[in-house]
Amino acid sequence: MAEVLCSRCGRHAPGLDEPPLAGARGATVVARVCAACWGEWVEESKLLINHHGIEVADPQQRQRLYPIMAEYLKIPGL
Ligand SMILES: [Zn+2]
Repeated sequence: MAEVLCSRCGRHAPGLDEPPLAGARGATVVARVCAACWGEWVEESKLLINHHGIEVADPQQRQRLYPIMAEYLKIPGL
């Protein structure tokens, strides 16, 4: 597992083995977010999905998560 300089926690830490999202967004996350922070986001996103009643199978509704994710991971415009 390669190390990344994580945007969120600012540490050099083990990254993800493979992109957790499709396309350029997934490539950015692999390059800039450590596995631990990604795991924390996954837990956070579950709460958000429940709280807001977001249907993640629906691409349009899933879009609502991305700005929150960008802020959470400290990657503007992710
Ligand atoms: Zn991190």
